[in-house]
Formats: sequence, C-alpha cells, structure tokens
Amino acid sequence: MEKPTLVVEGKRLDGRAFDQLRPIKMKAHVINAADGSAYVEWGDNKVLVGVYGPKECLPRHMANPYKAIVKCRYSMAPFSVLEERIRTGPSRRSTELSMVIRQVFEHTMFLEAYPETEIDIFIDILQAGGGTRCAGITAASIALADAGIPMRDLICAVSAGKIDGQIAVDLSKDEDNYGEADVPVAIAPRNKDILLFQMDGLLTRDEIEHMLDLAYSASSVINRMQVDALKEAYSGERTEAVLPL
Ligand code: ADP
Repeated sequence: MEKPTLVVEGKRLDGRAFDQLRPIKMKAHVINAADGSAYVEWGDNKVLVGVYGPKECLPRHMANPYKAIVKCRYSMAPFSVLEERIRTGPSRRSTELSMVIRQVFEHTMFLEAYPETEIDIFIDILQAGGGTRCAGITAASIALADAGIPMRDLICAVSAGKIDGQIAVDLSKDEDNYGEADVPVAIAPRNKDILLFQMDGLLTRDEIEHMLDLAYSASSVINRMQVDALKEAYSGERTEAVLPL
C-alpha cells in the first residue's frame, strides 16, 4: 500500500495533537482464575493480561535457588488484526516481544525475595492497533500489582516517534507502519528509569530528546490511570472479577 499522509494541517489522521494520547481505559482484577489480571483498551488495542505466582517453579531444574524466575508470553489472537488471520503460536516477533517484556519486569520485581519460584505473565492481544507491546507492559504492571507482587514501581510504556517529519507520542498503527521512526519506551515513573527502549527508524539526538520529553509527559498520565484502576479494584469489598462489558 502507498504511504498515506500522516499529518494534515498540523493534526494527525485521527485528529490528535502530537503530544496527545489515544483514548485509554484500564481495569484491574478481570479474571477470577488468575492471581492478578488487567484489561486495557488503548486506541484500537484490546489487551488482556493474567499473571500467576510466585509459585513453585516447574520444571524444577529451571528453578533458581537465589531468586524467582519470570516467564512471559506475549501473544496475538488470530482475529486481532483486520487484514488477515494471524498465524497462532510463537513467531519471531512474539518471541522477541515476550523476551523484552520479561526483561522489563525482571528489573522491576523483587525476585530475590522468592527463591525457587516462578512468576508467569500472559499477555493476550485481542485486538491490535499499533503499540501493543506498550499496552501489554502497562496492563501487565496493573496485573502484577493486582496479584500483590512487590515491585519497585508501576511501570508504564508508550511509543513515540516521527511521522511526516514531526515528533509525536503514542503512534497509531498507520503512524507506526508508515512513519519515519517508532520508539516504544517503558518508564519507571518514580525515578524516570528507562526499562525498554527499542527503535525502528532513524532519529537525530535532538529528536530523541524531544521524543523522550513527550514520552515522559505521557507516562505520568498513564501512571495515574494505572493507579486509579487499582484503587477502583481495591475500594470496598473485593468482588467477583468481571471483564468490562
Ligand atoms: P507494536 O504493536 O508493539 O507497535 P509492531 O510495531 O511490531 O508492534 O506492530 C505494529 C502494529 O502492526 C501492531 O500493533 C499490529 O496492529 C500490526 N501487526 C503486527 N503484527 C502483525 C501481523 N503479523 N499481521 C498484521 N498486522 C500486524
């Protein structure tokens, strides 16, 4: 397909300003069978996360006597994109995303407190519209907090990049696919640590600084929504988990 024009009269295709996020909804505690869970709708993305643990590490030979091990599986549902059915099962892309997301949380959780155990993170992308790894990381943080797993911070993630020469935050699918650069970033809001930084495309040093400013501003908005979702799930009686309908 030919590259669409991504910026028209200073606005993005969906009418957003360059520093504006897509509409986001978050809910904690949405699956009864998991120890912790979350559901996030972020633009066209719909992401469901269930986490388990810390629990006995199986197979036993994988257990670490000094700390918990983290397992992460990012997966896209066959019906998650409009164009075509996604081949189910691991792909190069989902294997890479599972690994980078696992590394984010390995640096976030107090794994030494749980030797010989494992913590499992399952991220299911029900609908994908650009930025699924960021939505997945943001949802997984809520799910891990919902499971009561101690963490250094509530990590959030957002992509930023360059579209038609403009630096912008939270790229949509077309902006991601046809823009000049796409940079997913995961941030620890408390100390501003960067836990994930991937780059697809080219940016100058100044552009990266500008892009990071936008990502940091967006991260404080996203972090507030994560905290609100957790507060809502924990205010009053702990009720049956329900997916929002
Ligand atoms: P992210 O979702 O984290 O931005 P990518 O940059 O790899 O990850 O993908 C951008 C978008 O392209 C996805 O959100 C999804 O909408 C779409 N996409 C990814 N993989 C496929 C695929 N195999 N088939 C069709 N669309 C895909």
